[in-house]
Amino acid sequence: MEDCIFCKIAAGKIPAKKIAEGKDCLAFPDIDPQAPVHVLVIPKKHIKSLDEAGDLSIVSKMYALGLQVAKQLGIDKTGHRTVINTGLNGVQTVLHLHMHLLGGRTMTWPPG
Ligand code: 5GP
Ligand code: ZN
Repeated sequence: MEDCIFCKIAAGKIPAKKIAEGKDCLAFPDIDPQAPVHVLVIPKKHIKSLDEAGDLSIVSKMYALGLQVAKQLGIDKTGHRTVINTGLNGVQTVLHLHMHLLGGRTMTWPPG
């Protein structure tokens, strides 16, 4: 989709370090990391949000890639957090479905 930052990253039009890639998903570092490890996992295809993810099979693929990245970056044993912000109250700022994978420190709860 034109004018979508994450579509541009998926198409290689905006540079991002590829951490891992599957057939349908891509993982790259968040530009504004909130933890020592902060990776975004996106579907390559434009899907606006979790609400528009159809049968949710893409979400399972995103989780599979996220868990692969957690192993790759050594945060699988220490634990991590995966977050999908949706819509206004979820404070979704980029309207292309993405999962945050956070780790490398103890997270706080409840989230702000
Ligand atoms: P949201 O608030 O929508 O769940 O998260 C969007 C995330 O995308 C934010 O954590 C933000 O730092 C990240 N982000 C926004 N623009 C870019 C970009 O151009 N490149 C990368 N790598 N991350 C971005
Ligand atoms: Zn997009």
